[in-house]
Amino acid sequence: MDWARQIHIKTPAEIAIMREAGRVNAEVLGTVKALLKPGVSTADLNAAAEEVLRKHNCFSPFKGYGHPPFPTSITVSINRELVHGIPKKDRKLRDGDIVSIDCGTVLDGYVADSALSAGVGEISPKARALLEVTEGALHAGIQMMRVGNRTGDVGAAIQQYVESRGYHVTREYTGHGVGRQMHEGPQVPNYGKPGTGLPLKQGMTIALEPMVLVGTHATRVLPDQWTVVSADGSLTAHFEHSVAVTAGDPLILTVP
Ligand code: MG
Ligand code: MG
Repeated sequence: MDWARQIHIKTPAEIAIMREAGRVNAEVLGTVKALLKPGVSTADLNAAAEEVLRKHNCFSPFKGYGHPPFPTSITVSINRELVHGIPKKDRKLRDGDIVSIDCGTVLDGYVADSALSAGVGEISPKARALLEVTEGALHAGIQMMRVGNRTGDVGAAIQQYVESRGYHVTREYTGHGVGRQMHEGPQVPNYGKPGTGLPLKQGMTIALEPMVLVGTHATRVLPDQWTVVSADGSLTAHFEHSVAVTAGDPLILTVP
């Protein structure tokens, strides 16, 4: 990734469009989450997501992204798969899996990006705890998205939340500015030092996305050149919201 990417400060009108894109993205994720049952294929999940996007005359920026071009509108990553799993007809969900779904929505040229992780059927207490820690870390980061703070304050809050509970945050994949493009500046890692990094300004829109691993922060990429897995095979989870910095409280764009 080219992280010298430009930061685009958004006007209230632009943020309003992103909020609408975020609503659609939340509907996609909610629809897919409701389908997480044993026997459902990850390609079925992608088809359901595309149906929601089409209904709103939207599309996902994931399809065709990168090299090799990503083939689908959502990513579906199961258990040891942290992010960027490719949906397939022959990949069926099983009881006890934890599944991370990531989607983007483009509406009127603006992008919203969010992700969630959830269980299939009965999941282990260990898996449930991982989901809770990862979602909690996202909200710890969101609370730092205020004028006067810096990107390092956000990363530090996420890292502290995760590591103080005995889990690990990824180093290779980060949060990012979002809006006119899926990936804009600034880069917002899931780790950091308070008081460092770029100052947050009103009108910045950033996708925060803690990616949390049970056993190690180390990852590797599978031969499909996309799927990122934990290096030790341990469970992983991923939650993400696109968030606007305002004059007051942070505004989460990717909720219903
Ligand atoms: Mg995402
Ligand atoms: Mg993202």
